[in-house]
Amino acid sequence: MNSIVIVGGGIAGLQAAQILQSKGLDFILIEKSMSLGGRVQSEQFQGYTLDHGFQVLQTAYPEVQRSLHLSKWDLSYFQSGAYVFQEKKFKPFLNPLKSPFLFLKNIFSSGATIFDFLKLALIWFKTQGSISPISSDPETTSELISRYRFSKKFQRIFLRPFFAGIFLDSQLTPPASLFFYYMKQFLIGKAAIPKSGIGAIALDLAVRIPKEKIRTGVSVTEIKEKSLQLNNGETVHFDQLILATDPKHACELLKIDFPQQAHFGSKTFYFSLDKHLETSLPLIHLMPLNSSPVLHFSCLSQVNPSLAPEGKFLISATSLHMELMDEEVAQELARILSLSPADFTFLKSFSIPHSLFKVGCFNKLCQKAEVENIILAGDYTQFPSLQAALSSGRLAAEKIMQGSQID
Ligand SMILES: Cc1cc2nc3c(=O)[nH]c(=O)nc-3n(C[C@H](O)[C@H](O)[C@H](O)COP(=O)(O)OP(=O)(O)OC[C@H]3O[C@@H](n4cnc5c(N)ncnc54)[C@H](O)[C@@H]3O)c2cc1C
Repeated sequence: MNSIVIVGGGIAGLQAAQILQSKGLDFILIEKSMSLGGRVQSEQFQGYTLDHGFQVLQTAYPEVQRSLHLSKWDLSYFQSGAYVFQEKKFKPFLNPLKSPFLFLKNIFSSGATIFDFLKLALIWFKTQGSISPISSDPETTSELISRYRFSKKFQRIFLRPFFAGIFLDSQLTPPASLFFYYMKQFLIGKAAIPKSGIGAIALDLAVRIPKEKIRTGVSVTEIKEKSLQLNNGETVHFDQLILATDPKHACELLKIDFPQQAHFGSKTFYFSLDKHLETSLPLIHLMPLNSSPVLHFSCLSQVNPSLAPEGKFLISATSLHMELMDEEVAQELARILSLSPADFTFLKSFSIPHSLFKVGCFNKLCQKAEVENIILAGDYTQFPSLQAALSSGRLAAEKIMQGSQID
Protein backbone atom coordinates (compact mmCIF):
# COMPACT_ATOMS: atom_id res chain seq x y z
CA MET A 1 0.00 0.00 0.00
CA ASN A 2 1.32 3.46 -0.95
CA SER A 3 1.81 5.75 2.00
CA ILE A 4 0.37 9.21 1.47
CA VAL A 5 1.36 12.18 3.62
CA ILE A 6 -0.30 15.59 3.62
CA VAL A 7 1.72 18.41 5.18
CA GLY A 8 -0.42 21.34 6.34
CA GLY A 9 -3.86 21.34 7.95
CA GLY A 10 -5.22 24.56 6.43
CA ILE A 11 -8.27 24.49 4.18
CA ALA A 12 -6.31 23.04 1.23
CA GLY A 13 -4.78 20.20 3.27
CA LEU A 14 -8.07 19.40 5.01
CA GLN A 15 -9.91 19.37 1.70
CA ALA A 16 -7.38 16.95 0.19
CA ALA A 17 -7.59 14.77 3.31
CA GLN A 18 -11.38 14.56 3.43
CA ILE A 19 -11.55 13.65 -0.27
CA LEU A 20 -8.94 10.89 0.12
CA GLN A 21 -10.87 9.68 3.17
CA SER A 22 -14.11 9.56 1.20
CA LYS A 23 -12.37 7.38 -1.39
CA GLY A 24 -11.09 4.99 1.25
CA LEU A 25 -7.43 5.91 0.88
CA ASP A 26 -5.09 5.82 3.84
CA PHE A 27 -2.98 8.88 4.67
CA ILE A 28 -1.57 10.94 7.50
CA LEU A 29 -1.94 14.71 7.82
CA ILE A 30 0.76 16.64 9.68
CA GLU A 31 0.02 20.15 10.96
CA LYS A 32 2.56 22.23 12.81
CA SER A 33 0.18 24.23 14.97
CA MET A 34 -2.00 22.68 17.69
CA SER A 35 -5.19 23.59 15.83
CA LEU A 36 -6.42 22.95 12.31
CA GLY A 37 -7.60 25.54 9.78
CA GLY A 38 -4.41 27.50 9.07
CA ARG A 39 -5.49 31.03 8.19
CA VAL A 40 -9.16 30.14 8.82
CA GLN A 41 -9.68 29.99 12.56
CA SER A 42 -11.99 31.48 15.19
CA GLU A 43 -11.58 31.60 18.92
CA GLN A 44 -13.69 32.33 21.97
CA PHE A 45 -12.61 35.36 23.98
CA GLN A 46 -14.58 36.71 26.96
CA GLY A 47 -17.83 35.49 25.43
CA TYR A 48 -17.07 36.87 21.94
CA THR A 49 -16.25 34.81 18.86
CA LEU A 50 -13.24 36.33 17.14
CA ASP A 51 -12.04 35.28 13.70
CA HIS A 52 -8.29 35.38 13.07
CA GLY A 53 -8.60 38.35 10.73
CA PHE A 54 -11.77 39.70 9.12
CA GLN A 55 -12.96 37.14 6.57
CA VAL A 56 -16.19 36.33 4.80
CA LEU A 57 -17.40 33.23 3.06
CA GLN A 58 -18.54 33.88 -0.50
CA THR A 59 -21.46 31.53 -0.97
CA ALA A 60 -21.24 31.64 -4.78
CA TYR A 61 -17.75 30.14 -4.96
CA PRO A 62 -18.26 26.91 -6.94
CA GLU A 63 -16.00 24.90 -4.65
CA VAL A 64 -17.74 26.24 -1.54
CA GLN A 65 -21.05 25.01 -2.90
CA ARG A 66 -19.56 21.67 -3.86
CA SER A 67 -17.50 20.90 -0.75
CA LEU A 68 -19.10 22.53 2.27
CA HIS A 69 -22.35 21.51 3.95
CA LEU A 70 -23.69 25.08 3.94
CA SER A 71 -27.31 23.99 4.41
CA LYS A 72 -26.38 22.57 7.84
CA TRP A 73 -24.83 25.84 8.94
CA ASP A 74 -26.48 28.80 10.51
CA LEU A 75 -25.20 31.54 8.21
CA SER A 76 -25.62 35.29 8.65
CA TYR A 77 -25.17 37.56 5.69
CA PHE A 78 -23.76 40.98 5.02
CA GLN A 79 -25.99 43.10 2.85
CA SER A 80 -24.52 43.57 -0.61
CA GLY A 81 -22.85 46.99 -0.78
CA ALA A 82 -21.08 49.15 1.78
CA TYR A 83 -21.34 52.24 3.92
CA VAL A 84 -19.19 54.87 2.22
CA PHE A 85 -17.71 57.81 4.12
CA GLN A 86 -18.37 61.26 2.69
CA GLU A 87 -18.93 64.66 4.24
CA LYS A 88 -18.07 63.16 7.63
CA LYS A 89 -20.99 60.71 7.45
CA PHE A 90 -21.55 57.12 6.42
CA LYS A 91 -24.05 56.66 3.61
CA PRO A 92 -25.21 53.31 2.24
CA PHE A 93 -24.17 52.36 -1.26
CA LEU A 94 -26.27 49.30 -2.12
CA ASN A 95 -26.28 46.68 -4.82
CA PRO A 96 -29.33 47.51 -7.01
CA LEU A 97 -29.70 43.84 -7.95
CA LYS A 98 -30.07 42.78 -4.31
CA SER A 99 -31.69 45.79 -2.59
CA PRO A 100 -33.49 47.73 -5.37
CA PHE A 101 -35.76 49.82 -3.09
CA LEU A 102 -33.06 50.86 -0.65
CA PHE A 103 -30.77 51.49 -3.61
CA LEU A 104 -33.26 53.89 -5.18
CA LYS A 105 -33.88 55.57 -1.84
CA ASN A 106 -30.17 56.28 -1.41
CA ILE A 107 -29.23 56.76 -5.04
CA PHE A 108 -28.51 60.51 -4.78
CA SER A 109 -26.64 60.38 -1.49
CA SER A 110 -24.38 57.46 -2.40
CA GLY A 111 -21.73 59.64 -4.08
CA ALA A 112 -21.82 57.77 -7.39
CA THR A 113 -22.71 59.59 -10.62
CA ILE A 114 -25.04 58.31 -13.32
CA PHE A 115 -21.93 57.50 -15.39
CA ASP A 116 -20.56 55.42 -12.50
CA PHE A 117 -23.78 53.41 -12.48
CA LEU A 118 -23.61 52.95 -16.25
CA LYS A 119 -20.02 51.71 -15.99
CA LEU A 120 -20.99 49.36 -13.17
CA ALA A 121 -23.78 48.06 -15.41
CA LEU A 122 -21.21 47.48 -18.15
CA ILE A 123 -19.05 45.53 -15.70
CA TRP A 124 -22.09 43.56 -14.55
CA PHE A 125 -22.75 42.74 -18.21
CA LYS A 126 -19.15 41.59 -18.67
CA THR A 127 -19.43 39.27 -15.68
CA GLN A 128 -22.36 37.39 -17.20
CA GLY A 129 -20.15 34.91 -19.06
CA SER A 130 -17.66 32.60 -17.44
CA ILE A 131 -14.80 34.56 -15.89
CA SER A 132 -11.32 33.19 -15.38
CA PRO A 133 -9.67 34.73 -12.30
CA ILE A 134 -6.24 34.41 -13.88
CA SER A 135 -5.35 35.70 -17.32
CA SER A 136 -2.20 36.57 -19.26
CA ASP A 137 -3.33 40.21 -19.55
CA PRO A 138 -0.92 42.28 -17.42
CA GLU A 139 -3.50 44.99 -16.60
CA THR A 140 -3.85 45.52 -12.84
CA THR A 141 -7.10 46.25 -11.00
CA SER A 142 -5.92 49.81 -10.37
CA GLU A 143 -5.28 50.32 -14.10
CA LEU A 144 -8.66 48.86 -14.97
CA ILE A 145 -10.49 51.20 -12.57
CA SER A 146 -8.65 54.18 -14.08
CA ARG A 147 -9.32 52.97 -17.64
CA TYR A 148 -13.06 52.80 -16.99
CA ARG A 149 -12.90 56.44 -15.87
CA PHE A 150 -15.14 56.07 -12.84
CA SER A 151 -15.56 59.42 -11.14
CA LYS A 152 -12.68 60.32 -8.81
CA LYS A 153 -15.10 60.48 -5.89
CA PHE A 154 -16.61 57.05 -6.52
CA GLN A 155 -13.15 55.53 -6.89
CA ARG A 156 -12.08 57.13 -3.61
CA ILE A 157 -15.08 56.35 -1.45
CA PHE A 158 -16.09 52.93 -2.78
CA LEU A 159 -14.23 51.11 -5.54
CA ARG A 160 -10.65 51.46 -4.33
CA PRO A 161 -11.21 50.86 -0.60
CA PHE A 162 -13.62 47.99 -1.35
CA PHE A 163 -11.08 46.16 -3.48
CA ALA A 164 -8.17 47.12 -1.20
CA GLY A 165 -10.13 45.27 1.49
CA ILE A 166 -10.48 42.18 -0.69
CA PHE A 167 -6.87 42.16 -1.89
CA LEU A 168 -5.38 43.63 1.32
CA ASP A 169 -3.39 45.78 -1.08
CA SER A 170 -3.97 49.53 -1.21
CA GLN A 171 -2.18 49.76 -4.59
CA LEU A 172 -4.69 47.33 -6.15
CA THR A 173 -1.89 45.48 -7.98
CA PRO A 174 -3.75 42.17 -8.47
CA PRO A 175 -4.79 41.40 -12.06
CA ALA A 176 -7.91 42.99 -13.55
CA SER A 177 -9.21 39.45 -14.22
CA LEU A 178 -9.44 38.96 -10.43
CA PHE A 179 -11.43 42.19 -10.14
CA PHE A 180 -14.02 40.79 -12.57
CA TYR A 181 -14.02 37.40 -10.85
CA TYR A 182 -14.62 38.84 -7.36
CA MET A 183 -17.13 41.34 -8.68
CA LYS A 184 -19.11 38.45 -10.13
CA GLN A 185 -19.02 36.56 -6.81
CA PHE A 186 -20.34 39.63 -4.98
CA LEU A 187 -23.05 40.19 -7.57
CA ILE A 188 -24.38 36.63 -7.68
CA GLY A 189 -23.60 35.37 -4.18
CA LYS A 190 -23.67 36.54 -0.61
CA ALA A 191 -20.90 37.35 1.87
CA ALA A 192 -21.62 35.18 4.88
CA ILE A 193 -20.33 34.60 8.40
CA PRO A 194 -21.16 31.27 10.06
CA LYS A 195 -22.83 31.41 13.47
CA SER A 196 -19.69 30.07 15.14
CA GLY A 197 -17.31 32.21 13.12
CA ILE A 198 -15.27 31.57 9.99
CA GLY A 199 -13.47 28.65 11.68
CA ALA A 200 -16.62 26.61 11.00
CA ILE A 201 -15.26 26.02 7.49
CA ALA A 202 -12.23 24.16 8.83
CA LEU A 203 -14.37 22.21 11.30
CA ASP A 204 -16.81 21.17 8.56
CA LEU A 205 -13.90 19.53 6.70
CA ALA A 206 -12.02 18.25 9.75
CA VAL A 207 -14.94 16.25 11.19
CA ARG A 208 -14.90 14.09 8.07
CA ILE A 209 -11.33 12.94 8.82
CA PRO A 210 -10.66 10.29 11.51
CA LYS A 211 -8.68 11.77 14.41
CA GLU A 212 -6.01 9.07 14.20
CA LYS A 213 -5.08 10.29 10.72
CA ILE A 214 -4.26 13.79 11.95
CA ARG A 215 -1.17 14.82 13.86
CA THR A 216 -1.10 18.37 15.15
CA GLY A 217 1.69 20.19 16.97
CA VAL A 218 4.49 18.66 14.86
CA SER A 219 6.17 20.35 11.94
CA VAL A 220 8.10 19.06 8.98
CA THR A 221 11.62 20.49 9.02
CA GLU A 222 13.07 18.78 5.96
CA ILE A 223 11.91 16.88 2.91
CA LYS A 224 14.31 14.12 1.88
CA GLU A 225 14.04 11.44 -0.81
CA LYS A 226 10.74 9.73 0.15
CA SER A 227 10.91 10.77 3.79
CA LEU A 228 10.14 13.74 6.01
CA GLN A 229 12.12 14.95 8.99
CA LEU A 230 9.92 16.18 11.85
CA ASN A 231 10.87 18.70 14.53
CA ASN A 232 10.56 15.99 17.21
CA GLY A 233 13.34 13.96 15.59
CA GLU A 234 11.00 11.46 13.94
CA THR A 235 11.27 10.39 10.31
CA VAL A 236 8.07 9.72 8.34
CA HIS A 237 8.26 7.81 5.06
CA PHE A 238 6.01 8.58 2.12
CA ASP A 239 5.35 7.37 -1.38
CA GLN A 240 3.22 10.35 -2.29
CA LEU A 241 3.40 13.77 -0.71
CA ILE A 242 0.91 16.62 -0.77
CA LEU A 243 2.64 19.78 0.41
CA ALA A 244 -0.27 21.98 1.57
CA THR A 245 1.63 24.55 3.59
CA ASP A 246 1.56 28.28 2.91
CA PRO A 247 4.07 29.25 0.18
CA LYS A 248 6.62 30.68 2.62
CA HIS A 249 7.08 27.32 4.31
CA ALA A 250 6.81 25.46 1.01
CA CYS A 251 9.71 27.59 -0.29
CA GLU A 252 11.74 26.83 2.83
CA LEU A 253 11.11 23.10 2.56
CA LEU A 254 11.92 23.01 -1.16
CA LYS A 255 14.95 25.28 -0.59
CA ILE A 256 13.80 28.12 -2.80
CA ASP A 257 14.06 31.82 -2.00
CA PHE A 258 10.71 33.28 -0.98
CA PRO A 259 9.99 35.98 -3.60
CA GLN A 260 10.28 39.62 -2.51
CA GLN A 261 7.00 41.50 -1.95
CA ALA A 262 4.91 38.43 -2.64
CA HIS A 263 2.66 38.81 0.37
CA PHE A 264 0.15 41.22 1.87
CA GLY A 265 -0.29 41.71 5.59
CA SER A 266 -3.24 42.88 7.64
CA LYS A 267 -4.13 43.58 11.24
CA THR A 268 -7.65 43.15 12.60
CA PHE A 269 -8.71 44.72 15.91
CA TYR A 270 -11.75 43.68 17.91
CA PHE A 271 -13.60 46.00 20.27
CA SER A 272 -16.67 45.64 22.41
CA LEU A 273 -19.28 48.40 22.44
CA ASP A 274 -22.29 48.80 24.76
CA LYS A 275 -24.52 50.39 22.12
CA HIS A 276 -25.27 49.60 18.54
CA LEU A 277 -24.07 51.83 15.72
CA GLU A 278 -26.43 54.37 14.19
CA THR A 279 -25.50 52.88 10.84
CA SER A 280 -27.62 49.83 11.49
CA LEU A 281 -27.64 48.02 8.12
CA PRO A 282 -25.48 44.88 8.03
CA LEU A 283 -22.88 46.51 5.78
CA ILE A 284 -19.13 46.90 5.90
CA HIS A 285 -17.99 50.52 6.54
CA LEU A 286 -15.31 51.68 4.09
CA MET A 287 -12.84 54.48 4.72
CA PRO A 288 -11.40 56.33 1.69
CA LEU A 289 -7.84 55.17 1.07
CA ASN A 290 -5.10 57.22 2.75
CA SER A 291 -7.66 59.14 4.80
CA SER A 292 -7.53 56.85 7.81
CA PRO A 293 -5.31 54.14 9.30
CA VAL A 294 -8.44 51.96 9.30
CA LEU A 295 -9.31 50.40 5.94
CA HIS A 296 -12.74 49.13 6.92
CA PHE A 297 -14.76 48.21 9.97
CA SER A 298 -18.00 46.41 10.74
CA CYS A 299 -20.32 45.82 13.62
CA LEU A 300 -20.15 42.05 13.29
CA SER A 301 -22.81 41.41 15.91
CA GLN A 302 -25.25 43.48 13.82
CA VAL A 303 -24.67 40.87 11.09
CA ASN A 304 -24.48 37.86 13.40
CA PRO A 305 -25.68 38.49 16.99
CA SER A 306 -24.28 35.18 18.27
CA LEU A 307 -20.72 36.53 17.96
CA ALA A 308 -21.15 38.75 21.04
CA PRO A 309 -22.69 38.24 24.51
CA GLU A 310 -26.23 39.56 24.89
CA GLY A 311 -26.39 43.35 25.17
CA LYS A 312 -22.86 43.81 23.76
CA PHE A 313 -21.74 44.70 20.25
CA LEU A 314 -18.65 43.37 18.48
CA ILE A 315 -16.70 45.72 16.23
CA SER A 316 -13.93 44.54 13.93
CA ALA A 317 -11.60 47.05 12.30
CA THR A 318 -8.99 46.08 9.72
CA SER A 319 -5.85 47.97 8.80
CA LEU A 320 -2.95 47.41 6.42
CA HIS A 321 -0.61 49.14 8.91
CA MET A 322 0.93 46.34 10.93
CA GLU A 323 2.42 48.72 13.52
CA LEU A 324 -0.94 50.30 14.42
CA MET A 325 -1.92 50.14 18.11
CA ASP A 326 -5.37 49.48 19.57
CA GLU A 327 -5.54 52.95 21.23
CA GLU A 328 -5.02 54.59 17.84
CA VAL A 329 -7.79 52.49 16.29
CA ALA A 330 -10.19 53.29 19.16
CA GLN A 331 -9.44 56.99 18.69
CA GLU A 332 -9.99 56.78 14.95
CA LEU A 333 -13.28 54.88 15.30
CA ALA A 334 -14.42 57.40 17.89
CA ARG A 335 -13.52 60.27 15.56
CA ILE A 336 -15.38 58.94 12.54
CA LEU A 337 -18.40 57.73 14.50
CA SER A 338 -18.60 60.80 16.77
CA LEU A 339 -18.19 58.64 19.88
CA SER A 340 -15.65 58.66 22.69
CA PRO A 341 -12.56 56.38 22.60
CA ALA A 342 -13.71 55.16 26.02
CA ASP A 343 -16.81 53.68 24.37
CA PHE A 344 -14.56 51.08 22.73
CA THR A 345 -13.28 48.31 24.99
CA PHE A 346 -10.35 46.63 23.31
CA LEU A 347 -10.63 42.83 23.14
CA LYS A 348 -7.84 41.47 20.97
CA SER A 349 -5.97 42.04 17.71
CA PHE A 350 -4.67 39.62 15.08
CA SER A 351 -1.61 40.65 13.15
CA ILE A 352 -1.13 38.46 10.07
CA PRO A 353 1.89 39.54 8.00
CA HIS A 354 1.30 36.77 5.43
CA SER A 355 -2.45 37.15 5.04
CA LEU A 356 -2.60 36.80 1.26
CA PHE A 357 -0.08 35.99 -1.44
CA LYS A 358 0.50 37.67 -4.77
CA VAL A 359 -0.79 35.89 -7.86
CA GLY A 360 1.83 34.43 -10.21
CA CYS A 361 4.83 34.73 -7.87
CA PHE A 362 5.42 31.06 -7.21
CA ASN A 363 6.24 29.55 -10.61
CA LYS A 364 9.72 28.49 -9.47
CA LEU A 365 8.24 26.73 -6.47
CA CYS A 366 5.70 24.91 -8.65
CA GLN A 367 8.42 23.86 -11.12
CA LYS A 368 10.69 22.53 -8.37
CA ALA A 369 7.81 20.59 -6.80
CA GLU A 370 6.99 19.01 -10.16
CA VAL A 371 10.60 17.94 -10.68
CA GLU A 372 10.65 16.41 -7.19
CA ASN A 373 7.29 14.69 -7.69
CA ILE A 374 5.67 16.62 -4.87
CA ILE A 375 2.05 17.68 -5.22
CA LEU A 376 1.45 21.26 -4.11
CA ALA A 377 -1.86 22.48 -2.67
CA GLY A 378 -2.75 25.89 -1.29
CA ASP A 379 -4.57 29.02 -2.40
CA TYR A 380 -1.32 30.53 -3.72
CA THR A 381 -1.19 27.88 -6.49
CA GLN A 382 -4.24 29.67 -7.98
CA PHE A 383 -5.35 32.97 -6.40
CA PRO A 384 -5.96 34.15 -2.82
CA SER A 385 -9.32 32.81 -1.69
CA LEU A 386 -11.13 29.99 0.04
CA GLN A 387 -12.30 28.91 -3.42
CA ALA A 388 -8.69 28.36 -4.49
CA ALA A 389 -7.68 26.66 -1.22
CA LEU A 390 -10.57 24.19 -1.58
CA SER A 391 -10.05 23.66 -5.29
CA SER A 392 -6.27 23.13 -4.97
CA GLY A 393 -6.91 20.55 -2.23
CA ARG A 394 -9.34 18.74 -4.51
CA LEU A 395 -6.90 18.77 -7.44
CA ALA A 396 -4.14 17.38 -5.20
CA ALA A 397 -6.37 14.54 -3.99
CA GLU A 398 -7.42 13.80 -7.58
CA LYS A 399 -3.77 13.52 -8.65
CA ILE A 400 -3.21 10.91 -5.94
CA MET A 401 -6.38 9.07 -6.98
CA GLN A 402 -5.29 9.02 -10.63
CA GLY A 403 -2.04 7.40 -9.47
CA SER A 404 -4.07 4.84 -7.49
CA GLN A 405 -6.59 4.50 -10.36
CA ILE A 406 -9.54 5.44 -8.16
CA ASP A 407 -12.48 7.41 -9.62
C1 LIG B 1 -6.92 38.27 7.20
C2 LIG B 1 -7.38 37.36 6.09
C3 LIG B 1 -8.54 37.65 5.41
C4 LIG B 1 -8.99 36.80 4.40
N1 LIG B 1 -10.19 37.07 3.82
C5 LIG B 1 -10.71 36.16 2.97
C6 LIG B 1 -12.05 36.29 2.52
O1 LIG B 1 -12.77 37.19 2.96
N2 LIG B 1 -12.51 35.38 1.62
C7 LIG B 1 -11.75 34.36 1.15
O2 LIG B 1 -12.22 33.56 0.33
N3 LIG B 1 -10.47 34.18 1.59
C8 LIG B 1 -9.96 35.04 2.49
N4 LIG B 1 -8.71 34.87 2.99
C9 LIG B 1 -7.88 33.81 2.40
C10 LIG B 1 -8.13 32.42 2.97
O3 LIG B 1 -8.10 32.45 4.37
C11 LIG B 1 -7.02 31.52 2.43
O4 LIG B 1 -7.17 31.49 1.03
C12 LIG B 1 -7.03 30.09 2.93
O5 LIG B 1 -7.18 30.03 4.30
C13 LIG B 1 -5.72 29.44 2.54
O6 LIG B 1 -5.71 28.10 2.98
P1 LIG B 1 -4.45 27.19 2.68
O7 LIG B 1 -4.75 25.83 3.18
O8 LIG B 1 -4.07 27.34 1.24
O9 LIG B 1 -3.23 27.83 3.49
P2 LIG B 1 -3.00 28.03 5.06
O10 LIG B 1 -4.26 28.39 5.73
O11 LIG B 1 -1.87 28.99 5.18
O12 LIG B 1 -2.57 26.59 5.59
C14 LIG B 1 -1.25 26.13 5.59
C15 LIG B 1 -1.06 25.24 6.80
O13 LIG B 1 0.24 24.63 6.73
C16 LIG B 1 0.76 24.59 8.05
N5 LIG B 1 2.23 24.45 7.94
C17 LIG B 1 3.10 25.38 7.48
N6 LIG B 1 4.35 24.88 7.52
C18 LIG B 1 4.26 23.62 8.02
C19 LIG B 1 5.22 22.62 8.31
N7 LIG B 1 6.54 22.80 8.08
N8 LIG B 1 4.80 21.45 8.85
C20 LIG B 1 3.47 21.22 9.07
N9 LIG B 1 2.53 22.15 8.82
C21 LIG B 1 2.92 23.34 8.30
C22 LIG B 1 0.32 25.91 8.66
O14 LIG B 1 0.38 25.88 10.07
C23 LIG B 1 -1.11 26.00 8.12
O15 LIG B 1 -2.04 25.40 8.99
C24 LIG B 1 -8.23 35.67 4.02
C25 LIG B 1 -7.04 35.38 4.70
C26 LIG B 1 -6.64 36.20 5.75
C27 LIG B 1 -5.43 35.81 6.54
